[in-house]
Amino acid sequence: MSRIFYLNGRYLSRSEANISVEDRGFLFGDGVYEVIEIHRGALIDEVRHCERLDRSLAELRIDWPMGQAPFARVLREVIVRNKVENGFLYIEVTRGVAPREHVFPNPGVRPSLLISAKSVDRQKSEITAQKGIRVISLPDLRWKRVDIKTINLLPNVLAKQAAKEEGASEAWLVDEDGLVTEGAASNAWIVDQEGTIHTHPVDHSILRGITRTTLIDIIASRGWRLKERRFSLSEAYAAREAFITGALSLVMPVVNIDGNDIGAGVPGPVSTELRRIFHDMAIRTH
Ligand code: PLP
Repeated sequence: MSRIFYLNGRYLSRSEANISVEDRGFLFGDGVYEVIEIHRGALIDEVRHCERLDRSLAELRIDWPMGQAPFARVLREVIVRNKVENGFLYIEVTRGVAPREHVFPNPGVRPSLLISAKSVDRQKSEITAQKGIRVISLPDLRWKRVDIKTINLLPNVLAKQAAKEEGASEAWLVDEDGLVTEGAASNAWIVDQEGTIHTHPVDHSILRGITRTTLIDIIASRGWRLKERRFSLSEAYAAREAFITGALSLVMPVVNIDGNDIGAGVPGPVSTELRRIFHDMAIRTH
């Protein structure tokens, strides 16, 4: 089935959905994005994703491209037109189309909006989760405001490619103090030998993952111990378990970091249980 894209007010086929050569997203990476999981036809944590989009837009002083109620309707229409049962929505907003000049267009222009939906093979990711993934570590070369979900992803792209070339699925990024910030496209977590779960605190050096936020609620509801603190690579190597979170990876066990097996080198009980219960606890909207 050919995919349908919503672009600036119209539902278009792949070949019709073209952006301008003067779009500031294309020229400067001047835009933001969101990825929302679709699970059994429902959106997972839609409100939190829309709130984060709102914050990203505000931080970059880009206007909402449309009202929030029609926006919510378009999200659903894109899912229906693409017949997606399990998959994700991709939303991108750029500052719009204007002759190339670094400063904001004056007078302002209408932001560009792209929304697409794609199916994923859920069974394939379950098989991956049963085996767990390998991760490599790399220096975190990103700018100092990665809390804003911008489309500027060059360091992330390079890190993911390096991971792939080493037979790994994700790269954990390490700051100048030798501490893990997050993954190239996910948040990073460990479970220490006492069973306490650790993840980087929210500041400007990580993206506040929506999956992360929801998982913190789930961990609290279970009464499990969580510390939002920075951890080192050597703590990660010595951990009982490690995992990543993201709207696409959900909770994905990490079984090896930089060639070091984590725990027994197989997915541990904490990450496996958190993955199992994630969809029951996350907020779904139809
Ligand atoms: N950190 C980075 C750098 C990401 O790109 C992502 C997801 O794309 C995440 C964390 C996880 O965020 P979320 O759980 O909202 O998907």
